[in-house]
Amino acid sequence: MAKAIVTGLAVLIGCGVAEQTAATFQLVGVVGGVVRVEVPDSTSEVAFLGKPQLLLGSSAVLAIPLGTESGLHEFAVIPGEPGRAFGVVEVVAKDYPKEYITIEDEEQVSPSAKTLKRISRESQLMRTAYARFTAHPQDLVPLVLPAEGRKSGVFGSQRFFNNQPRKPHSGLDIAAPVGTPIKSPAPGVVVVTGHFFFNGNTVMIDHGGGLVSMMCHMESISVQEGHAVERGSILGTIGTTGRSTGPHLHWSTSLQGERIDPEDLMRVVNSSYDGSASGGEPADVE
Ligand SMILES: [Zn+2]
Repeated sequence: MAKAIVTGLAVLIGCGVAEQTAATFQLVGVVGGVVRVEVPDSTSEVAFLGKPQLLLGSSAVLAIPLGTESGLHEFAVIPGEPGRAFGVVEVVAKDYPKEYITIEDEEQVSPSAKTLKRISRESQLMRTAYARFTAHPQDLVPLVLPAEGRKSGVFGSQRFFNNQPRKPHSGLDIAAPVGTPIKSPAPGVVVVTGHFFFNGNTVMIDHGGGLVSMMCHMESISVQEGHAVERGSILGTIGTTGRSTGPHLHWSTSLQGERIDPEDLMRVVNSSYDGSASGGEPADVE
């Protein structure tokens, strides 16, 4: 069956007849989120918004960065097959919440010229890591939450620091006591460790296929650049380093150099997970 897999907020339109009519895939997704589409096994690349997308076996995960214009955007399946060579994603806007945060250290709201230089250097380093596109992951599913705790901030919220507007929140915040372990959400390679002005102690992991995780505000870091990690490997512990108002983990997920919603990514990537792959719980009864 040629059918597109779409879950949750994504809605499938006019599927199930692709074999007869050469109809295209048509999907709906929100800005800041992802959509998943089933593609032929022979697919070597799926291109969307000018970039190759993450391939997971016989499906592709298409990233819709914040700022993508609402409306129809085409994607291409390479090499194509009759009726399955391309499709369309209808991108719809999403109302993200507003968040007002008070920061006591004014330098962290309106940094000095010297600090701005440091921030610029650090941003460049992170951008380079986010731009990585290594081999597609073989064992990404299930993607697991990197820490246990209370969800204290969602992706995409419009942030105001001391009433001054700043960039939308680029990840998911999980609040938990200092020292709580932070685990790798999936296998990968550690590509950045360091202490950064805004992000504090930070670890970045390349999971492959353009998917890169970043963990921020850590108390301690227990991995080194170049280390391979497994799903669940301890990366360090939760802290409140950098621009932070209390102990929490900030987890960013990036696809093709653009931050996307970690919760949406987990929901979509794990949507076909039946619990039988490595890392899943065995069934206790037949
Ligand atoms: Zn955060």
